[in-house]
Amino acid sequence: MFMGPPGSGKGTQAQGLVRSKGWVQLSTGDLFRDHVGRGTALGVNAKRYMDKGEYVPDEITIDMVRQRLRDIPHATRIVFDGFPRTVAQADALDRLLAEFGRVVDGVIVLDVPRDELLGRLVKRGKEQGRSDDTPEVIGKRLDVYEQQTRPVIDHYAREQLVRKVDGVGAVEEIARRLAAAAEA
Ligand code: ADP
Repeated sequence: MFMGPPGSGKGTQAQGLVRSKGWVQLSTGDLFRDHVGRGTALGVNAKRYMDKGEYVPDEITIDMVRQRLRDIPHATRIVFDGFPRTVAQADALDRLLAEFGRVVDGVIVLDVPRDELLGRLVKRGKEQGRSDDTPEVIGKRLDVYEQQTRPVIDHYAREQLVRKVDGVGAVEEIARRLAAAAEA
């Protein structure tokens, strides 16, 4: 499971594991953007929150994850990226995983200073045109992360699952740090 603030590189590192190990990525941000792109009712609803830098309500998010989990074969390992993001989501995930006979093997927290995050997100906004990568919304997203997602790290720290990794540097270098942390 990857945790870390917006722009910390969760998606990039998750995609690396998909390529190198054949794991499946479960990114709630990507799932929401897919719905937005297809113009589904869920997408229209989610976009209202995303564009403000707020979290989509837990119930909607958890339902979407439950449906995605159903489609992933039991033997396939999953990289969670961007979920869970609230304590309620973490509690729901514990129940879902029990239901599906799965366990959390580890939680990697990517550590990146706020100034670096701001720079990365503004750059991504210019390059990819993501509607939530604007200077006003970025600040809000970083604040929401501190308030709502920081406590989720404690949820997993209690189970000794958390490994902190320095998320500043080249993508491959960080991938090596991750691999080392996963073995530690
Ligand atoms: P980032 O981590 O850079 O913010 P994501 O693609 O993971 O990017 O998420 C983009 C937006 O999608 C979030 O700001 C939020 O509105 C919504 N979102 C993604 N994951 C969740 C989640 N687990 N719970 C609620 N909202 C979410």
